[in-house]
Amino acid sequence: MRADVIVVGGGPCGLLTALLLGRQGINTLLLEKHPQTLNHPKAMGVTARTAEILRQIGLLDDVLIGQMARHADAVSQWLKGGLNGEVLGQSTLPKPDNRFSPCHGFHCPQPHVENVLREAVAQCSQVTCLYGAYVQDVSQSSDSVQVRFELNGNQQAANAKYLVAADGDQSFVRRRLGIERHGPGELGRFLSVYFKADIGDQLSGRLAYISNVLGADWFEMFVAVNGKDLWLMHHYLEGDETAGNYDSVAMQKIVASALGVADVDIDIISMNPWVMSPAIADRWREGRVFLVGDAAARVSPAGGLGMNNGLQSAHNLAWKLAHVIEGHQGASLLDSYEAERLPAARFTFENSSGNMDETFGIVMTALTGDWDKAREMIGRSRRSGAGYGQDFGIVYDSGAVLPDGTDAQTPIDVVNEYIEQARPGHRAPAFDVKAGGKLLSSIDMAGYQFVAWLGANANEKIFTDICPHARSLIEGRDFEAQVRDWKRLYGITSRGGVLVRPDGYVCARVS
Ligand SMILES: Cc1cc2nc3c(=O)[nH]c(=O)nc-3n(C[C@H](O)[C@H](O)[C@H](O)COP(=O)(O)OP(=O)(O)OC[C@H]3O[C@@H](n4cnc5c(N)ncnc54)[C@H](O)[C@@H]3O)c2cc1C
Repeated sequence: MRADVIVVGGGPCGLLTALLLGRQGINTLLLEKHPQTLNHPKAMGVTARTAEILRQIGLLDDVLIGQMARHADAVSQWLKGGLNGEVLGQSTLPKPDNRFSPCHGFHCPQPHVENVLREAVAQCSQVTCLYGAYVQDVSQSSDSVQVRFELNGNQQAANAKYLVAADGDQSFVRRRLGIERHGPGELGRFLSVYFKADIGDQLSGRLAYISNVLGADWFEMFVAVNGKDLWLMHHYLEGDETAGNYDSVAMQKIVASALGVADVDIDIISMNPWVMSPAIADRWREGRVFLVGDAAARVSPAGGLGMNNGLQSAHNLAWKLAHVIEGHQGASLLDSYEAERLPAARFTFENSSGNMDETFGIVMTALTGDWDKAREMIGRSRRSGAGYGQDFGIVYDSGAVLPDGTDAQTPIDVVNEYIEQARPGHRAPAFDVKAGGKLLSSIDMAGYQFVAWLGANANEKIFTDICPHARSLIEGRDFEAQVRDWKRLYGITSRGGVLVRPDGYVCARVS
């Protein structure tokens, strides 16, 4: 079997990588060891930036079908005694805010996201998917990568120009290549309990995506899956406890007691152990092999950023591979993947670890019985997932952006605040446009190629030397900006323009 790119792993990051490559005409082979998507949700939070990516590729509406339909009262909350107990603090949902983007973050189970991606990949003729294919060896030479895998009991082989390892936290490929990871080590072992209990209607005013419930000597974290009858509970495993210590009956009792909601049937659907052990791979590239998703960086789930970070890396990598394979750019472009996404992952890692430290700090304080201090710590907490700075404010500095001599404007709180700027290396701010008689967002005009957004009096060729394949959009000819003064926002005059990469980041600007 031969392909341009082999993707190992069909979780969200492998699926998105394969889809983006396939849609750009790259012959892609995806190998996933499980025959089916796992039904047990892990990630639940999709951030606004990830939503922009899904919108750009036309999948946002399909993913939104799986979002929690009921309006939540809070992002996260702390409760004493049970889900109906005293509210110690809530971090409320930010009001829907179209200032920066037409897309918002939302709450949606990972299996639904994966199923939408899987369906889209299945419809992409350039991608061959082999589910049930267990990759057992990887090697590479100067011009190709070889894999050996088992499928239906048979040994098979495939080779390609490049390989993307999206095989998760325990990545076989990463270990095979001898790439080390660094992180604080094992911080806790948990049992994720997926259960059915029709309690949503009893939670008036206190339906949150995440509910941290504290007792005098216990702590359980509940995650709403559909806001009605599907839930997750993360149960801390003490000492040498393992998942084997709990059967469904024992777990039902723990869930019932922590819920504190009377007379409700609890049906344990599945239990999945997981270890909190954030770590980042030292290198994200070895020759022709690239790491993406959890294989590259596993961040703490506190804040719900792992899948988002991985999907954003897949979005960054796929166009680079496609452009190099198609011969539009030299192979050195591929160096910019690690240069851009490893620092981004470190930033996300720090943020998530801060979330985790805050959560652990509150739990430990409450467990000492100092409820006043716990309340005060909850009140001070600003962390509740992806702030705008975390989500939209990641800045790239690499060979794939051309500095224009301007300085970046940096917010004081880089996690929660975001300053829009179309400086090279920044996310191109979104603005509404009218094009072809339709009202659209600039995100909708991106497709899979470079886009040169040009003022009405600009020379259409200002970016031709850098990027001859860019699609030129001239104000007045190809689009009308709606509402926002896009040239001021982009820092250009009517004679200038901004070259935006396929991943929505500014490559170059001529003011
Ligand atoms: C409890 C918990 C809560 C979380 N909450 C959030 C959240 O709210 N938001 C968020 O953004 N993230 C969250 N995450 C993180 C998120 O789940 C992961 O970041 C995400 O699943 C990573 O996707 P991936 O595609 O890189 O890896 P995975 O989802 O792990 O997929 C890897 C795939 O590779 C396959 N594979 C592995 N080895 C091989 C092999 N040798 N051959 C073939 N296939 C192989 C596996 O079967 C698997 O399907 C959470 C994680 C946990 C544990």
